[in-house]
Amino acid sequence: MHEGKLYQLAGWLEQARYAVALTGAGVSTESGIPDFRSPECGLWAMVDPIKVASIEGFLGDPVGFYEFWKWRFSKLNEAKPNITHSVLAQLEARGRLKTVITQNIDNLHRKAGSQQVFEVHGNYTQGLCIKCRKPYETEELLRKVEERSVPHCDECHGLLKPNVVLFGELLPPAFAESELEIYQADLLLVLGSSLEVYPVAGLVPQAKYGKAKVALINREETPFDGLADLVIHSDLGSAMCRLSELLGLRMQAV
Ligand code: NAD
Repeated sequence: MHEGKLYQLAGWLEQARYAVALTGAGVSTESGIPDFRSPECGLWAMVDPIKVASIEGFLGDPVGFYEFWKWRFSKLNEAKPNITHSVLAQLEARGRLKTVITQNIDNLHRKAGSQQVFEVHGNYTQGLCIKCRKPYETEELLRKVEERSVPHCDECHGLLKPNVVLFGELLPPAFAESELEIYQADLLLVLGSSLEVYPVAGLVPQAKYGKAKVALINREETPFDGLADLVIHSDLGSAMCRLSELLGLRMQAV
């Protein structure tokens, strides 16, 4: 259906000197992880983002916050990479993609084999003490939640938090590193993001002004469709499957 555009994109990927991918929650819906904003099935249709995804909600009601996160952790732990994660990992292995910048916290790019991953909103597998910054594995953090509803640090008794960026928090150094990637990019491939969350969405115009080509694949329209050089409105599974064929990638069953 999008054959011409996918053919063009395959050509750009083959010729690019420094291709970078920017991914959002839409790359993981086909792994069974709901995104935030898809109508009806997005997470925000089910829960209040202020209670479960803001620093204010976390500090104000850690018990309620962890009730939700226990469920979320188990879903994230069960999830497996899908074809989009695998295609990106293969492109990197073949030298056709330099880095993946992801807003996702689900660890699926790493599970699929991507090496250069900038997780600008953190990674759910890690946690930390908000007082002394001591790191904790999520598994350990969850054991503590099972014991006492709210986990505390062994060293300073500070509150433990998943190492993911909540609304109201600053972004980690991975964001500044991503900006450096964007400056070098001559092709930016944006996959499965509504591009409504800043400052990450700002990387798209940054790439464009830096003279990179911008290609965007998303089910729905985004605010940057008009700025992109190529836009495909499609499910990622079918688009990436065809792209992998056009690029001659050998995909294992996922
Ligand atoms: P978003 O929910 O705002 O947008 C997701 C976009 O992906 C939507 O526009 C939707 O139409 C599209 N989409 C969904 N499934 C798709 C598919 N199969 N094929 C093509 N397009 C598809 O998510 P966002 O832009 O990443 O930004 C919001 C925040 O979501 C980020 O901060 C991120 O941390 C967080 N988040 C992450 C996860 C995860 O780690 N998997 C899950 C939910 C939310």
